[in-house]
Amino acid sequence: MNASPPRYPNAALIGGQWVTGPDTFPVIDPATGAEVGRVPDLGAAETKTAIDAAEAALPAWSKKTAKERAQILKRWFDLVTADTEHLAQLMTAEQGKPLAEARGEVAYGASFIEWFAEEGKRAYGRTIPTTAAGKRYITIKQPIGVVAAIAPWNFPIAMITRKVAPALAAGCTVVVKPAEDTPLCAIAIAKLALDAGVPPGVFNVITTANAPAVGKVLCEDSRVRKLSFTGSTEVGKALYRQCASNVKKLTLELGGNAPLLVFDDANLEQAVAGAMASKYRNAGQTCVCANRILVQSGIYDRFAEALAAEVKKLKVGPGRDAGVVIGPLINADAAKKVDGLVRDAVGKGAKVIVGGSPAAAGPLFYQPSVVTGVTPDMTIVHEEIFGPVAALIRFETDEEAIRIANDTPFGLAAYLFSQNLGRAWSVAEALDAGMVGVNEGLFSNETVPFGGVKESGLGREGAAEGLDEYLETKFICLGGIAS
Ligand code: ADP
Repeated sequence: MNASPPRYPNAALIGGQWVTGPDTFPVIDPATGAEVGRVPDLGAAETKTAIDAAEAALPAWSKKTAKERAQILKRWFDLVTADTEHLAQLMTAEQGKPLAEARGEVAYGASFIEWFAEEGKRAYGRTIPTTAAGKRYITIKQPIGVVAAIAPWNFPIAMITRKVAPALAAGCTVVVKPAEDTPLCAIAIAKLALDAGVPPGVFNVITTANAPAVGKVLCEDSRVRKLSFTGSTEVGKALYRQCASNVKKLTLELGGNAPLLVFDDANLEQAVAGAMASKYRNAGQTCVCANRILVQSGIYDRFAEALAAEVKKLKVGPGRDAGVVIGPLINADAAKKVDGLVRDAVGKGAKVIVGGSPAAAGPLFYQPSVVTGVTPDMTIVHEEIFGPVAALIRFETDEEAIRIANDTPFGLAAYLFSQNLGRAWSVAEALDAGMVGVNEGLFSNETVPFGGVKESGLGREGAAEGLDEYLETKFICLGGIAS
């Protein structure tokens, strides 16, 4: 199958029109270095035009009934689902993840469309008991307006639908800026939205190799009433500052440094399975991947050995090859960073028990690795690894584990493994994190709120909370009522 099939244009989308130039930039297959396609390199002027289009489309879209919008979103869900194989191939080509994971992401991405199609019908307001005989109090929920979404490359479909589906369900219109590494999936998803009946201008896509220029317009144009961003904390903070100029509402899904705690009383098999699921998915390139694996002394050696045995089985290679579970990293910077973190740790006394160096499959591949004896002076403890490397830290007491786990400016995901319900509950409460997996390494889905505390971000995506992010609450006081 052609990696960039003609049924999806290699073009940006503004006001229902496909825009192809004049300048373009390449999209590269990280497994091979080959060009998968070229997309337009747009700038500030086209971003303004896209905001114009979103603004023009807003009144008619927001006036549709929630049920009408839901019907269109349901059709969009059906079209995405029906084209799973094709979308998965496209994703593997531009992002590198194994095909099985890409298929899983299409389903995950589509699930947000289905969920918010349904949830949009339940944007309820309230009636509030009055404090004065002649008055009645009501709240209604209204769409916030034009929304900008800036998305990352690690989930090229799901991170778009997790923003666009609730925005559209709420009655907002959107301008999306996909990551420069993975614009093709965003374009494909937008094309299917158009095919499903999303009107021109409701869903716009600006492709660019100059993210700061486009980002500045999206942040500083006061017609954009909301920015939803997923990416690094550094960029998130810059966008937060830019959005202050017009007090724009923000959802920020930023970096993580997830601790995964394995207590002496954990079920070893369960803990290893959880660590594998959390750590090695997408070659370790998710913001909820376990970054620091804290293991209690009594189980440390057994856990390390059992984890190493599983990691040795992971097949590395191009995502399109059968049986591959670890694809390439996204680009040369990522590969260099992962190798640098391992070298730093080893230089400071850590021990590599599996992997520990780049893999033979190509310049962007890294061996799935396990490093033991990790201590707080090592950079790997403080930075998001974003690669297939497990860093094991030893601890003695619950208090020590909680202190180490919380000793970070981040607070996105955390995991703990223990068969003691009381301990699991109290540790879950004590962890500074927006999400905690107890005896579970995978928890993201469309029905639950995803998001972080501290410098991991603001707001939540998915669930009822994810719809609320695109709604304003208006209080109406009805006076003059005869009592
Ligand atoms: P990562 O390090 O995972 O690539 P980034 O935060 O750099 O994360 O990228 C996430 C998204 O933010 C991408 O779509 C990228 O193009 C975009 N981006 C990067 N820098 C800026 C910026 N200054 N303004 C707006 N968007 C940006």
